[in-house]
Amino acid sequence: MKLDDTLLPILYMLAAMGFILAIKWLNSPATARRGVIVGEIGMLLAVVGTLLRFEVVNYQWILVAFVLGSAVGIPIAYIMPMTAVPQRTAFSHACGALASALIGTAEYYKGFDQGAGLSKITMVALIVETLLGFLTFTASMMAFGKLQELLAQRPITYKGQNFVNLGIFAAAAGVGLALIVSPERSVLFPIFTVLALLFGVLLIIPIGGADMPTVIALLNSYAGLSAAAMGFVLNNKLLIVAGALDGSSGFILSIIMCRAMNRSFTNVLFGAFGQLQTSAAGAGEAKPVHSATPEDAAQILDSARNVVVIPGYGMAVAQAQHKLREMFDMLTRRGVDVRFAIHPVAGRMPGHMNVLLAEADIPYDKLWEMDDINPEMSNVDVALIIGANDVVNPAAETDPHSPIAGMPIIQSYKARTVMVIKRSMNPGFAGIDNELYYRENTLMLFGDAKAFLSSIVKELSALVKV
Ligand code: NAP
Repeated sequence: MKLDDTLLPILYMLAAMGFILAIKWLNSPATARRGVIVGEIGMLLAVVGTLLRFEVVNYQWILVAFVLGSAVGIPIAYIMPMTAVPQRTAFSHACGALASALIGTAEYYKGFDQGAGLSKITMVALIVETLLGFLTFTASMMAFGKLQELLAQRPITYKGQNFVNLGIFAAAAGVGLALIVSPERSVLFPIFTVLALLFGVLLIIPIGGADMPTVIALLNSYAGLSAAAMGFVLNNKLLIVAGALDGSSGFILSIIMCRAMNRSFTNVLFGAFGQLQTSAAGAGEAKPVHSATPEDAAQILDSARNVVVIPGYGMAVAQAQHKLREMFDMLTRRGVDVRFAIHPVAGRMPGHMNVLLAEADIPYDKLWEMDDINPEMSNVDVALIIGANDVVNPAAETDPHSPIAGMPIIQSYKARTVMVIKRSMNPGFAGIDNELYYRENTLMLFGDAKAFLSSIVKELSALVKV
């Protein structure tokens, strides 16, 4: 069965509606599951509709690609943990961008072989598609390598680097322009491809691991724009819609991340942030801290009227969310008001904490955004920080020379008592010390987040029995 010109647009329209609703519903934890399902249905309709087009005459190679893609994609979904989502996303962008660039390349040579088969407009779209596709491919692979620690995380910089990078980009754009003017000069196409691939590598070299998640959101945007351009080349309206949605949402996400870290785009792309902070943590003589046992922590929590939990990357690593839920239930039953303060860049991707807490069925109305909880922090009895570090570091407010200066933080230091669960005095993502740990009202609870929370839960149940 093949779809005619009436049925196909209807199917594509339904698929586009699915994508738009998915983005809308993914905005809130309450509707996120629905968003994922409707997005998946939209993609299924798009794929089935495309496979049933008249132009598709042979399914043999499509089947081979399907099996190969699934053989790579399915294990990745199971093997890579939640904490590795940024690099997993980088890898899938790389594949999507490469696919887009290769389709553009095939279209170019097809049009070239068939004589003057490519109009100027198509050539413009094709050059945009392949330029963004190839550069996003190498840039995303580099980002993947840095985040997976296959490549050095630190930024590699040299004098005149921005000049060289812009020069390579200008050369790629120049050759692309020449191809638009004279598409028959096919000798230029491989040169254009190499320049675009090279620019992708050079773009990422000066960016440190610390900025990689933001860069990935930006690369997501480029891959989307490449797909939209591919829609123009192939005259496929659904690709234009999906690519535009991907392009704009990736761009908005990177703006949100930049704001949450108080960084500008130019600073992320050209600032070489993430150099090793040799003078920061670990250097100098060790300062004293107050540490406490699970028993002490359980007693303090039990006698509090209200507790604000601030989760961070360490909670994700330890997978402590279910133990946290147990503690939440026990304290709530004891009449303690427990809320969760969510920093927009806690963890390694936006929404990281929301996903984990939703997985443990923590009620959504107990999750407070940073801007809403901060004015309340001085009325809080206990701020319980679980595997968070940078997002509660007062240096962001007090030290203008700190790498995180100006980044909005959850003001846990205002609480009457601060308790911090972490394994050691090691720094967090930004690689800097946290003076919150040395304050008089701070108690360090050293240990793995899940193990420590288990002990607190045990101590709390002993207290309940009394
Ligand atoms: P963080 O600053 O990276 O600190 C995480 C802390 O968790 C560490 O100090 C570590 O200390 C502790 N930890 C690790 N494993 C643990 C375990 N098993 N049990 C207990 N504690 C453990 O995390 P954050 O406060 O969530 O801050 C996020 C950082 O990522 C920020 O700098 C942010 O700018 C950056 N970032 C986030 C995003 C995003 O979208 N979310 C994007 C880009 C950058 P120990 O080793 O001593 O245990």
